[in-house]
Formats: sequence, C-alpha cells, structure tokens
Amino acid sequence: MLLSAGIALNRGNRRAWTTLARKVHSKGSISPIAPGAAAAAAAAALQQQQQQQGNRAPGILFDIDGVLIRGNTVLNEAKEAFQMLSKRHLLKNIPYMFVTNGGGTTEAHKAHQLSKWLHVPVSEKQVVLSHTPLRMYEQYFNKTVLLIGQGPLKEIAASYGFQKTLDLDDMRKAFPLMDIVNMKVRKQLKSHPPTPIPVPPVEAIFVMHDPLEWESCLQVLIDLLISKDGVPGTLDSKQHIPIIFSNADFLWMAEHPQPRFGQGAFRLCLEALYKELTGRDLLYTQLGKPFGVTYDYAEKLLNEQAQKLGYDGLSYFYMVGDNPRSDVRGANSRQNGRSVLVRTGVFSPHLDNDPSDPAHFVVPHVRDAVQLVMRHFDDGLHHHGGSDELHAHFVQKSRTRSEK
Ligand SMILES: [Mg+2]
Repeated sequence: MLLSAGIALNRGNRRAWTTLARKVHSKGSISPIAPGAAAAAAAAALQQQQQQQGNRAPGILFDIDGVLIRGNTVLNEAKEAFQMLSKRHLLKNIPYMFVTNGGGTTEAHKAHQLSKWLHVPVSEKQVVLSHTPLRMYEQYFNKTVLLIGQGPLKEIAASYGFQKTLDLDDMRKAFPLMDIVNMKVRKQLKSHPPTPIPVPPVEAIFVMHDPLEWESCLQVLIDLLISKDGVPGTLDSKQHIPIIFSNADFLWMAEHPQPRFGQGAFRLCLEALYKELTGRDLLYTQLGKPFGVTYDYAEKLLNEQAQKLGYDGLSYFYMVGDNPRSDVRGANSRQNGRSVLVRTGVFSPHLDNDPSDPAHFVVPHVRDAVQLVMRHFDDGLHHHGGSDELHAHFVQKSRTRSEK
C-alpha cells in the first residue's frame, strides 16, 4: 500500500493527506512518511510565491534515459538540442534541470557526465536523481537506515545528511545465517564459521537504486519488515519499519530492443512476498517521477534558478520525457506542468499519444521538443506572468495535442 501522497500533500490538499494518513494509521503501526518540516515550509512558501504575479520564466525538466541517452549511447538529437539552446543563448535565459528516476551515483557525478555528453556546463544543482529528494527527510538524519541498491550509497546518503547507514553487506556480516540461498555461501559458512559483527536495529529502509542479488535483498528486507523493531530473527504482527522506494518505474529503456525491468518490478516482488507471508499489504512511501515529492523538489530548484536569472520566479515548466507513466503523468498532475512525450524511449512508436496518460505534446525526439519550447518562448509566453491569459494561450495551443 502506497503511503506517500506527495501530490496531495504538496498541492495544498492537506485534507486528502490527513484522510489517507488516518486510513493508514488504522491498518498499520507506522506513520506515512512526509518530508521533514523544513521541506513542507519551503513547499508552502513556493506555492504562495507562485500565486503572485510578476515577470516569471518558463522552465524545462529533461528526463535522461530514453530522451538524451539509450544505455551508454548519447542520442545525436540530444547533442543537437543543446547546441540549439546554446546558440540561442536560451541556456542562459531559461531555467532547466535534469530529472531522472535513475540513481546510484552522486548528483555531481551525473552533472559531470551530462556536461560531457551534451557539451554544455551542468551544475549538480541542476540534477535531481531518484533519491535526491531524500534530502528532505531530515527526521532520519540521526537514525539507523539500511540502504539498498548499487553505487556509493553510503557516500550519497552522507552527502544528504544521513549519519548512521548500513548496507546489505553489513546485514550479512551481522546475521551470517540469514542469506543462504547461495550454495557457495553455505559451504563457506561450514568451513569458516564467521563471527557476527553486530549492527544497531534498523529504523528505516531506503531502496535508493535497482538492487543486485534480488534473492538476498528480498530475504533481508522481508526479515526486517516482519521483525520487531528492526532486528532480524524477531517477529511481530505489525510492520514497524518504514520503507521508501526511490523509483517506481516498472520498465526502463536501455540499448536492448525491449524495455528492462526497473525498481518498480523489485517492489512488486517484495510486496507479493510480504503479502503471501503475512496476509497484509506492505506499507511504503514512493519517491521519483510521477510522485509529488520529486516534482516539488525539482520545481523548487527551477524557481531558484529563475530568480538567479533575474525573473520573479517560475511560471510553468515543460517535462520532456519518454515514459507516459512517470514523465507525462507527473507533469500532467501539476497545475503548471506541460508534458512533452518523445518517441525515443519506452513510448510505443505505433500510437499518436498515450491512451492512459496523454501528453500535451508528442514529438519524435528531444531536438523537436526543444524547438517546440523555443517556439513558445518566441511567442513571448515568458513575458506573461503566470496569469490566466498565459494559461488560456497555452491551452489553446495545446488543443492540437500532437505536434509532429
Ligand atoms: Mg526515461
């Protein structure tokens, strides 16, 4: 059961959030996890600011996989798109960011990669990875958190402020008999019985990236989720440990002709096992696109960029993405979001638009998406102050629904 209702919480609909929270409280023993108080205050301030008139800028959020790259290959249209933006000096006039459901690296490293791929300067403040919004969960900064996924997770979590983190290897060392599917491990245990290295009880679990060794992760996470207060080997009839997933994508597009399973597929496995074992729904919080916490975070940074560029703030944003379920759905759920769907990723090339999550615009690739934004920019939309006039202008243009 999804606990996080970031969209409801951060769109100002606190009544819906409270109702959901009450339902959740009645079913489980843990509370839904909203970002910390500082993040909630910042979101409220931004919402209030966005209601004020002024010279506001449009912004662009670029998805990465399936839009700028396929696997390790940078798409030519992506390089061309950023060359066009550079030549028009729009990179200096339009706030833009990269928002991906990928992760497992630092924002600084991804910014460096993007800069090399696209031949434009990219700052780490322009990068929102799937796990970046964890920065807002300051209530866990001093609690023991188990990190699941690939990459330098402890380093990433420390950069966000989390002081006490564990990984899968720490859990294996503390509980050597817990993960023994692997026959080699069983043999090692027999020949060299290890001495357990104790760890403190786990107080929260963050799935920060696609895990490897799913059988090990599933076993360890289930042991914790059914435990009494985060100690594997104990048992309770309620779930005590909150779990946050950073990426809900069931599929993602790499170089293989068919999409690959993503972190969303792993979550489904965990949910199924938990339900089969306990008869209860797993209670979890979800970050990443299309969820509101991630868009709140990205919009906050876009707004700050707009102000640095001399605008009064952000008027609306284009989300350029290949995934209707995450990119388009997320943008469409925001009052000031405009979705631009490209055909270089998971979206079926045989459809005019996605039937479940139709985008405001469908274009072949990111270069055309940037041209679309430039046309709108040339129409002078950015001079309109986020007013009804701007909205009417945009809606009229959007009625074509598809620009090919
Ligand atoms: Mg994508």
